[in-house]
Amino acid sequence: MTRPLRVSTTVDPDAEGKQFGIVNIPHSSDDSAWGAIRLPIVVIRNGSGPTLLFVGGNHGDEYEGPIALSKLARSLEPSAIQGRVILLPALNLPAVLAGVRLSPVDGLNMNRVFPGRFDGSVTEMIADWLLRAILPGCDAVVDLHAGGRTLMFVPFCGIHRLADEAQMARSKAAMLAFGAPISLVIDELDTEGMLDTAVENLGKPFIFTELGGAGMTSARTVGIAEAGVGNLLRHFGLVEGAPAPADTRLMHSPEADCFVIADDRGLFEILVDLGEAVTEGQAVAQVHDIEKPARPPALYRAERNGLVIGRRVPGPTKPGDCLLVLAEDLEA
Ligand code: ZN
Repeated sequence: MTRPLRVSTTVDPDAEGKQFGIVNIPHSSDDSAWGAIRLPIVVIRNGSGPTLLFVGGNHGDEYEGPIALSKLARSLEPSAIQGRVILLPALNLPAVLAGVRLSPVDGLNMNRVFPGRFDGSVTEMIADWLLRAILPGCDAVVDLHAGGRTLMFVPFCGIHRLADEAQMARSKAAMLAFGAPISLVIDELDTEGMLDTAVENLGKPFIFTELGGAGMTSARTVGIAEAGVGNLLRHFGLVEGAPAPADTRLMHSPEADCFVIADDRGLFEILVDLGEAVTEGQAVAQVHDIEKPARPPALYRAERNGLVIGRRVPGPTKPGDCLLVLAEDLEA
């Protein structure tokens, strides 16, 4: 017996033309007994061809994706493409509306609940619907993230290191076509429950971005998102022409020591800035016990040579917080 979908949508994914619709997730709450949460969905189709899925708002405090995809939804006409584009500009809509990383409805991290549950909470139902109703029809998936309120990145487009070399090569080609300032092959700290892993397990190309952060956007980072999405439409053959040539620096974060993790509670002071090169043993951060000014701060050193591509944003810090992310150049 197949599990039923409790989530429904007003769009017909096979229809020609452009459809603005909703994804309806039942949600009975104190302020709406027979209520629902309605995610925006846009399907743009012209004839046969590949299907590209673009996701924004997987985390609610990362805004380049929702903004760039909303703009694309209005500007992209079916006649400009061959194939199908599916846009989910605010996958975790309650989190996007609240401007926070996790869903304020059930406290869950959208990018940690895959494969989801058809009989679960709102976030789990969205994941289950996406996995079963949408992903099977997609040829590639692009998930637009940024650092959120607690992290800031040098804008990059990334893929994960995969065991299947052919699949990784297709993902890598798409990453390079996106044309972000950095193209990063990453070994994630923890991949369980991610949309990334769900798509990769289906054997499909998956690329993601980290375009800035600190819970804000810049003209530059939104521009990178828009240009990258356009490049991918050309790369996958939905739009004619080649991706615009871009200077992208191919890098990787191959080991756990690329992540400088706090071991102390206190006030975080960064000693190197985003985009700076550091050498092994160099002091990169310290954490001050601000109530004990006589006590020297805890000093953190880089455990490898690398470029600082990510940093923590808030000052207050506790053990386990990611302070810095380093990357090194990767031979093409
Ligand atoms: Zn994110």
